[in-house]
Amino acid sequence: MYHGAQDGWVEVISGVMFSGKSEELLRRVRRALIARKRVQVFKSHLDDRYAGVFSISSHDGSRLEAHPVSSSVQIAEFVRPDTEVVAIDEAQFLDEGVVAIANELADRGVRVIVAGTDMDFRGEPFGPIPNLLAIAEKVDKLHAICVICGDLATRNQRLIDGKAAPAEGPTIQVGGAESYEARCRRCHEVPRVARFQTELDMGETHPSH
Ligand code: ADP
Ligand code: ZN
Repeated sequence: MYHGAQDGWVEVISGVMFSGKSEELLRRVRRALIARKRVQVFKSHLDDRYAGVFSISSHDGSRLEAHPVSSSVQIAEFVRPDTEVVAIDEAQFLDEGVVAIANELADRGVRVIVAGTDMDFRGEPFGPIPNLLAIAEKVDKLHAICVICGDLATRNQRLIDGKAAPAEGPTIQVGGAESYEARCRRCHEVPRVARFQTELDMGETHPSH
């Protein structure tokens, strides 16, 4: 196994969609390249919204080549022994194994930069990001701007035909500005269709209540 000359570490860039995570990841990768580090960039194969699966892009349109992966094991397979910096974008779509892989890479001297949205559309912790935040040496939580009120946005609002999507939808549903917007805690809406329906049903079955 390769042992880097320097200590490795894990840094996580988290936050809501549109908060600039990809921009920040790209910035850090560009600077690592300027420092002549050997860098490899990965991203979940699920996210091919902008320029095809081979690049990561931020919402402002800048791009960098990235290797699409469907599981965390693939990252371990594709990382070359002499790589000094590993960047992983859209890590919320990856499996829990990415936590151990980030740790192993850092243990052998690699700087691991992970970006991912920390909450799903319901406002609940998303995939492996909570555990990545726990093991990271450095954590940044970015905010977007709430499109409703202009405050700092921390939540991903999922929309279906322009309306707040119900909590019962799938956790992973890849989309951009047409199906998500950034909102603050107050403006974030997650209607619970099933519970509402159950209450209605109970009301019908027990009209005296
Ligand atoms: P992320 O990776 O966190 O989804 P990106 O780096 O892809 O974010 O995009 C960030 C950019 O998105 C911002 O610099 C800005 O130009 C744009 N943007 C669009 N909507 C918003 C919003 N509601 N709040 C802040 N930035 C936004
Ligand atoms: Zn708001």
